[in-house]
Amino acid sequence: MIALAIHGGAGTLAPDAMDADLEQAHRNGLARALIAGHRVLAAGGPAIDAVCAAIHVLEDDPLFNAGHGAVLTADGKVEHDACIMDGATRRTGAVAGVCGPAHPIDAARAVMEHSPHVLLAGRGAEGWLQGRVPFADPASFVTARRQRALAAVLAARGGPIDDADRHGTVGAVARDAQGVLAAGTSTGGMTGKLAGRIGDTPLAGAGTWADATVAISATGHGESFIRAAAGHAIAMHMRLSGLSLADATDLVLADVTALGGDGGLIAIDAAGHAVLPFTSRGMYRGQVGPDGVCLTGIYRDALAPTTCT
Ligand code: ASP
Repeated sequence: MIALAIHGGAGTLAPDAMDADLEQAHRNGLARALIAGHRVLAAGGPAIDAVCAAIHVLEDDPLFNAGHGAVLTADGKVEHDACIMDGATRRTGAVAGVCGPAHPIDAARAVMEHSPHVLLAGRGAEGWLQGRVPFADPASFVTARRQRALAAVLAARGGPIDDADRHGTVGAVARDAQGVLAAGTSTGGMTGKLAGRIGDTPLAGAGTWADATVAISATGHGESFIRAAAGHAIAMHMRLSGLSLADATDLVLADVTALGGDGGLIAIDAAGHAVLPFTSRGMYRGQVGPDGVCLTGIYRDALAPTTCT
């Protein structure tokens, strides 16, 4: 059974800041990503291609915190993190703190496929990626909305910050017709992060994981997801303790909460069952199965069939 689940981050706008047009714009973005990934899976393509196809759409959409529209560091720069993982082979590749590749998920894939390493960071990564993946003008990643969010976060230092200004990230998990699982995650990180800070997204076993049992992509307070070893812990709860997908993901999100973090994740098991739990106010999310019907959700209400308008 082919299956795809995606998220556009746990940093949802407050319900009173979300009007009908904005909500539709977010649902359109999610549906476009689901359609792109589903097209690959329905044609018999590999899970990893479906993950990349879905993430490309979300990285290009400035509504989501990845690629174009990524959040900004405390000094106003974009530093992308991304990771991809193939469940069949457990090959994985990641980039951290890079600004240049038009699609950071492609940069992660290039590390996996063309380097002897798993994770490349910063200027060394940018140099190695030149000529291997398309680059974009760094200024094209920056949006006025993220500049306003940075100003709000800097002004609130130490005080409460709205979810929409804190969180974001995009991710996809897929099961292909051959039964192979894959996961990918891409983010600008957290608004106002210190230059050089690396979150859970590019760390296999934390924000991203895929093996023969489960594929996971997380979003939320990255430091807590790292300390929970979230992705790997879910896989181990399922493989070693025999927990169901739902029980394993709930257990790990409870651990993230106990560590002081919030957020959510998407996960698909070997049978193609998907769960999309979160502890934050909401999580932009969606899923599609063999019937091609795109389901999307933002807050706690059930996923709703969505067509792009
Ligand atoms: N987990 C991401 C990070 O910590 C941010 C997020 O998903 O909100 O970099």
